[in-house]
Amino acid sequence: LEPAYQFMTRVRAPGGVATPEQWLVMDDIANKYGNKTLKLTTRQAFQTHGVLKWDMKPQIQEINEALMDTLAACGDVNRNVMAGANPYQSEVHGEVYEWSKELSDYLSPRTSAYHEIWLDEEKIVDTRSEEEIEPMYGKFCLPRKFKIGIAVPPSNDVDVYSQDLGFIAIVENGKLLGFNVAVGGGMGMTHGDTNTYPQLARVIGFCKPENILDVAEKIITIQRDYGNRSDRKNARFKYTIDKRGLPWVKEELEQRLGYRLEQERDFHFDHNGDRYGWTEGKGEWHFTLFVQNGRIKDEDNYPLMTGLRKIAKVHEGEFRLSPNQNLIIARVTDAKREEIETLIEKYGLTDGRSHSALRRNSMACVAMPTCGLAMAESERYLPTLVDKLEDILDEAGLREEEIVIRMSGCPNGCSRPALAEIAFIGKAPGKYNMYLGGGFTGNRLNRLYRENIGEEEILDTLRPLFIEYATEREEGEHFGDFVIRAGHVKAVQSGLDFHSE
Ligand code: SF4
Repeated sequence: LEPAYQFMTRVRAPGGVATPEQWLVMDDIANKYGNKTLKLTTRQAFQTHGVLKWDMKPQIQEINEALMDTLAACGDVNRNVMAGANPYQSEVHGEVYEWSKELSDYLSPRTSAYHEIWLDEEKIVDTRSEEEIEPMYGKFCLPRKFKIGIAVPPSNDVDVYSQDLGFIAIVENGKLLGFNVAVGGGMGMTHGDTNTYPQLARVIGFCKPENILDVAEKIITIQRDYGNRSDRKNARFKYTIDKRGLPWVKEELEQRLGYRLEQERDFHFDHNGDRYGWTEGKGEWHFTLFVQNGRIKDEDNYPLMTGLRKIAKVHEGEFRLSPNQNLIIARVTDAKREEIETLIEKYGLTDGRSHSALRRNSMACVAMPTCGLAMAESERYLPTLVDKLEDILDEAGLREEEIVIRMSGCPNGCSRPALAEIAFIGKAPGKYNMYLGGGFTGNRLNRLYRENIGEEEILDTLRPLFIEYATEREEGEHFGDFVIRAGHVKAVQSGLDFHSE
């Protein structure tokens, strides 16, 4: 008898777009093979949890029949390509989404192993060398995973500065001119190892849309050739860049491209969170629904999974998984809006609950019980912590003040905690390192403020800070900026400065 090993499955959805039919397949699979929940991830992918080993193959085959796959959703290759889900800019979103799909396809491994193992395709004896089969990844793939995201200003919902390679769409008069290219971001680190740190991607120039695949491919080959292959903790692209310098990377890139990047263009980010409710764009309607930590499940008095299933059965547009783990019921026509609205109300999906702005800007990784790397709770605990923080916010009159709060169960940082105004990274069960001072638009890393603290100390620490912020903030000043101006933490200029006092 074999033990009932259980697995997590991650399904790619470039740009976070899924058709209603695909949504229904994921819903069915989660209920049939998984733990009857779906997780919308921070990289706009789907995850099912609790899938038993012998159910993996039929599950992947069903996913494949719905024109989705799990190929390169993990591993030392390019991962799910993210794209801004901002429904305000529907036209540009459409173009950016197409580019995210093209990038995803172009940068996918060419190996037929996936299809042979999971989809029972015929095993072909290929006499080509591995370099010929995988011209970009070669025999050994990349030194570490590689992440790409495309932001559409003024929304930085993809946290473009957290990506190994970020593209910032430059739009003029509603037309996409091209992309600023940013390199070397990444969130992960290891507790107690100051050679590891989160880092922000830095803009090195601008490219035309038709060059985006070329730029991405050449950047990836630089990391393939120069990334650290002897120490996985120091293998991400950010370390390659920090070791050799930004001018070196730009020079190397331009040499491989055979042309120069253009001068970077001006842009401006307003926020990295989502904007909720109905919006109109390009003659269609889009409804952004808050999904706490991206978990789709039915709860007593909150049948979220059932409600979304009913919507998917009548919806003719698409679903967009937001980079903040929320869900956009997108491309709803005038004719369909009432029907969708009625279902949202019938199943109480907005639930009459008035979420504080803090909760609306909260994000947690999976952590316990399904992530084997977790040192502390995250998804199951952050909502409870936010409940308690909301009491303090109410006292301070800050319920509607947008503050970005994120929690990760370990320093891998899947919820991109290093960019939050308030962040917690798990150290041990019930204990977290607390960080403050991230930029509201995802433009500045935060700094360690308290180490290894539990709930009581978290609340005791944040209470006076919230009260001080409520009374002493300047007009329009965000919490992350305030704690720096008030001298509670020193601003982090770069990842290289993340661990300094
Ligand atoms: Fe798991 Fe760590 Fe990622 Fe959380 S941050 S999901 S604990 S690997």
